Amino acid sequence: MQNYKNVVENFIHNEILSKTGEVYFDFSKEEDFLYHELDFIGKNLCQDYVKGPSSFYIIDSVRVQAVAIHNHKIVLVFKGMLEQIFRTAAMMVGAERRDKESDEIFYEPWFDNVNLWINGGEFEWTSNEYWWLHDQEYRKAFDILVEALFIFLVLHEIGHLHNLHGERRNDNNEECVSPIDNITFIHKAIEDNEEMDEAERLNSHAREIVADTFAFQFMMSELKESLFPNSEYEGTDSATLTAINFGVCIYAVASYLWALSFRYNSESSTHPPHVFRLASIEAACLEHRVCGGDEKLTILGLEIGMRSYLKKMTCICNSNEFVEWRNLKYTPANQEYYEKICRIIPKWSNSTFGVRDEDWL
Ligand SMILES: [Zn+2]
Repeated sequence: MQNYKNVVENFIHNEILSKTGEVYFDFSKEEDFLYHELDFIGKNLCQDYVKGPSSFYIIDSVRVQAVAIHNHKIVLVFKGMLEQIFRTAAMMVGAERRDKESDEIFYEPWFDNVNLWINGGEFEWTSNEYWWLHDQEYRKAFDILVEALFIFLVLHEIGHLHNLHGERRNDNNEECVSPIDNITFIHKAIEDNEEMDEAERLNSHAREIVADTFAFQFMMSELKESLFPNSEYEGTDSATLTAINFGVCIYAVASYLWALSFRYNSESSTHPPHVFRLASIEAACLEHRVCGGDEKLTILGLEIGMRSYLKKMTCICNSNEFVEWRNLKYTPANQEYYEKICRIIPKWSNSTFGVRDEDWL
């Protein structure tokens, strides 16, 4: 075990930190306890969902990035990505407050310009204006949303490892792959504008969608226990709770993907448009009836989620921007491209939706 840790830390040092000048996140200088909490969650998710030894680290860096490194089973989350999650969660808490206090005036830095808020850089933990950090009720909601988005992010990276995307990428590649590519193949949450042809781009998009559907399935079970524990909801029909939990997860992921869409997306992107990712998660959930195999309940959960994201994301930015983004999926060109991706998804996924190795083998 010690040997594995040394190998991993040497790899991270030699291949990443020594080249970029980045360092491991220093928890003694942390601005908030939440960083500790997220590190703990990330380590536990890797332990629970990755077969054999695995590693999780937070890297101190402005990069909005998370990566899965295949051969050593490492997941790295960069601090810039955490800032992105904090900003998205703050905006979501803002939507809750706006919903409750429609006539009140309070600080809403995302209002009229979500892009400016999302790309605003370092999150100001000490700012007096950040009411969602100082009011106990809102702070609790903020923490829960941050954890929900973070769980999805980490499980997505684990989804690449689980579906053997590094290994299969090489199997599927007709060109000769050098051993060094094989060793260092890394999946990134945000692309670096790699040059690629359409076939390779489609494969890359399919891999992202497979990792997303894996992540979403287990995000639901992770959050069910923390958001809706049966012990606190005694007497409530557990099937209804499952549908509500599904709806909350869809709302959270829609907000996360929308916020990420402000970062990039060119046509030659290695990642599918974020709206495709949301639509694919929704379609996979319906197809696999994620609410205990019950079709009606699954439709109900999806309705709860969609209503919630359409209403809340429209209310926070005072415009139709979110709805227009969601509708991008339906343009004929996008629809055609989306179907092309769907056709090659089986090539990149385990045979059953969301299975873990121990259930599958
Ligand atoms: Zn990915």
